Amino acid sequence: MSLAENQVISNQLQSAVVGKKIVKTVANQNPHSFVWFATEPQYAFAAKEISHKQAEQYDDMLTGKVIQGSDVHFGSYGTYNFLYVGSRALMFGIPTRYYAAGEKLPKRHQLLLTFDDGSSMALCGSLGGTIYLFKVNKQGLAIDYLPSDFPSVLSDDFSESFFLNLIKSTDLTKLQPSKSVKCFLAAKNRIPGLDNVILHEILWEAQINPKSVMSALGQDEYKRLYSAIKKVFPTVIAAGGLDTQKDIYGNFGSYITKASKHTLGKPCQRCGQPIVKEAYMGGAVYYCPNCQPLIK
Ligand SMILES: [Zn+2]
Repeated sequence: MSLAENQVISNQLQSAVVGKKIVKTVANQNPHSFVWFATEPQYAFAAKEISHKQAEQYDDMLTGKVIQGSDVHFGSYGTYNFLYVGSRALMFGIPTRYYAAGEKLPKRHQLLLTFDDGSSMALCGSLGGTIYLFKVNKQGLAIDYLPSDFPSVLSDDFSESFFLNLIKSTDLTKLQPSKSVKCFLAAKNRIPGLDNVILHEILWEAQINPKSVMSALGQDEYKRLYSAIKKVFPTVIAAGGLDTQKDIYGNFGSYITKASKHTLGKPCQRCGQPIVKEAYMGGAVYYCPNCQPLIK
């Protein structure tokens, strides 16, 4: 998930569920091999049997408690939404939906919380993900679990000099599995919260091809990348998400994507050439071949 997606979810949960009391908890109703439950950091990403056993404690730990707050954190394993419940935080990076009282609930889910006003919240992770319930410290972090001093792309600490230094201090000739811009920006959680989806909007904005060789670009291109990162994240958040992604109410965001499945084969919004899609690095890349020329 991108940090923008997490932030949109967090903002919406703030008004949808914070302050509400949980009256019913159903955890692991639809067991999934790649959805992990853990009540202590040492059980994070444990074997399926351990993880599913952990889920049995969620009802006791959540039911009867009030949701006290909502925010976003990230660490070495990616970005997470946090919902604070008593001395613990529900940490998840998984598609999240909210249902008003009386609305039809999903048949399959990994966590369903029902609140005292009859509304519900469901986490349904068809692609897998984590649903942890750790104790938190004063900073709101799960102790020892999210060690990361990497600045959020939304913060002033993620400055142009920080970004240019990150490039300088990375051996671009040794990037794996490819030497490309996509690999530098969106692989291995190098920039937490910059995922393969928001990547394409950033690269369209910066007019840089996802397959261009990172070390073949110059300072101008690096600065354009930085500016695009700083522009796209807050704009997507303000728009309530991308028009290809649903929010917690099931509505698409209003950020008009420029290089996505929605615009494939359609005229580039800058130059009019059709947007193309190619299989690349175990996924797909979308770009405008005219204004995002390949540099090798
Ligand atoms: Zn174009």
